[in-house]
Amino acid sequence: MTVRSINPRNGQVVKEFVSNHPDDVLSTLMKGRDAQRKWMSEWVNEERIEAVLELRSALLSMKEELIATEMLEGGFPQKDVIGTYNGVIKGFEHYAAEAKATGDYEFPLDPAGWPDTKATINLVPHGVIAHIGIWNYPLWQTMITLIPALMAGNAVVFKPSELTTMTGTMIQQAFDRTSMPSGLLQTLIGGPEIGKAMVNAPFDALVFTGGRATGLDITRNAGVKPMVLELSGNDPGIVCSDVNVQEAARGVASGAFSHGGQVCIRIKRLYVMESMADAFIAELLKVVARIDVEGQIGPLIREEARTKVREKVQRAVRSGCELLTGGENIPGPGYYFEPTILKVTDDSLEIIREETFGPVLPIRVVRDEEEAIRLANQSDYGLGATVWTRDPIKGEAIARRLEAGNVWINEHGRTINCGELFQGWKCSGIASTNRRITLFMKKRTIVNHLSSEARPHWFK
Ligand code: NAD
Repeated sequence: MTVRSINPRNGQVVKEFVSNHPDDVLSTLMKGRDAQRKWMSEWVNEERIEAVLELRSALLSMKEELIATEMLEGGFPQKDVIGTYNGVIKGFEHYAAEAKATGDYEFPLDPAGWPDTKATINLVPHGVIAHIGIWNYPLWQTMITLIPALMAGNAVVFKPSELTTMTGTMIQQAFDRTSMPSGLLQTLIGGPEIGKAMVNAPFDALVFTGGRATGLDITRNAGVKPMVLELSGNDPGIVCSDVNVQEAARGVASGAFSHGGQVCIRIKRLYVMESMADAFIAELLKVVARIDVEGQIGPLIREEARTKVREKVQRAVRSGCELLTGGENIPGPGYYFEPTILKVTDDSLEIIREETFGPVLPIRVVRDEEEAIRLANQSDYGLGATVWTRDPIKGEAIARRLEAGNVWINEHGRTINCGELFQGWKCSGIASTNRRITLFMKKRTIVNHLSSEARPHWFK
C-alpha cells in the first residue's frame, strides 16, 4: 500500500511512501526488546538521560527542515509549528529533571503490624511500547510520549499518522543521529491496518492519540495491557457577564479557531450569559471577520475532513441553528473552510454533543452561570474547558465544578511543560497519573521481611 503526504494548502501530493506490512510489526517488537534490554543493562539512568538529550541536539540541528516539513504536510500556520517545536525543545529539560527525580522509594510501614519489614516500590519501564500517532501536532504529540518513555527506560515502536509520515520519519532520522541503541526507536509506515496489527501484538504497553471511535476499537482489540489513551474533546467555554467583551472575544476566537480548530483542546461549544450575549457575539463576529484564514488558522487536513465539517454545519442549520457567519468552503486551491459561528438553542443537537474538528463554534445563550455549568457538564467528553471572567475567584470556583481534566480561566489550550499533567476525563481518555513519566513505568512492590524468624500469624 502507498501512503501519501499531501499539502493541504493546494492538494498536491508532496511525497509517497510504501507502507509496511502488518507482519513487520512483530519483528520490530522483537528488535525493540533486544534494544531495550541493552538500554537497561548497559546504561545507567544518568547516561540514558544524556543520550536522550542528544535527540534534542539532533532536533535543533534539523530545526529549519523539521518546521518546513510540518508546515508543508500539515498545512499548519508557521507560528503554531514554531511554538510547539520550542515547547518540545524545552520539554527535554523538564523530563530530564523528572527522570532524575523518579526512582525507587520506600513505603513507610507501621512497625507494630510490620516488625522488621521494609517495603520498597521499585519502578521499572514497561519494556517495548507501541505508539500510534496523530497528525495535528505530529512532532509535539510524538515527543510528549517519546521523551519520557525513552528516559523511563523503554523502547518505542512508533507509527506516525499516515497523514504526516514525513514528519514521523524525520523524528526517526533525528533519533538515528544519537548514540542510543539501534532499534530503541523504530518507525512503521502505514494507516489503520498497521495500527490494528500493533494493537493486537504483545507490546508491553500502548499509547494512542486520536479519535474516540478509534480509541473504542482499540480497547476492544488490545487485550490486557497498560494503555495511555488520549482521545477526542468537546471543550465548553463559559463567558460570564462581567467580561470585557472586546478582550474576551479575541481570546475566545483564538481558543476556538486557531490551528483550524483541529486540536483536541479547542473551544467547541460556547455558553454566553444572556445579559450581554448580543454585545459579545457582535464583538466576536468582528474579530472573526478580521481573521487571516491562510496565515492564522490554515486549511483542514484533507478534503474528506472539510466535507465532514461542512456537512455537519449544514445539518445543524437544517435542524434550526442560526448561521451567524461562515459555513462554506473557501473557493480556490486547498482545503480552507470559513470560520463559522452558529447560534444554537437545542442542546441535543449533534453540533453541541459531538466534537467538530474544524473552525466551527456553536454558541448557546444561557440565563446564568448555573445553567452554563450544567450544560457544559452535560457531555460524554471531559478533556478541556474554559471560563471567561474578570473575577479570578469566581473563575476558579466555576473551574472546580467543570468536569474536565484541563480547565483554563481567561485563556484556552496552553499546555504545561510538554504534555506534563495533561489528561482527559470521561470518554476523552484514560486519566493519567500525577506525573507523566510514571505513565511509562510499572511498579513492583517488594515486601522484604528482614528477619527470617517465624511470624506470629504463620501456621504452627
Ligand atoms: P484517528 O483516530 O482516525 O487516527 C489516529 C491514528 O490511529 C492514526 O495513526 C491511524 O492510522 C490509527 N488508526 C486508525 N484506526 C485504527 C484502528 N482501528 N486501530 C489502530 N489504529 C488505528 O485520528 P483522527 O480521528 O483523525 O484524529 C483526530 C482526533 O484526535 C480528534 O478527535 C482529536 O480530539 C483527537 N486528539 C486527541 C488528543 C489528546 O491528547 N487527547 C490529541 C490530538 C488529537
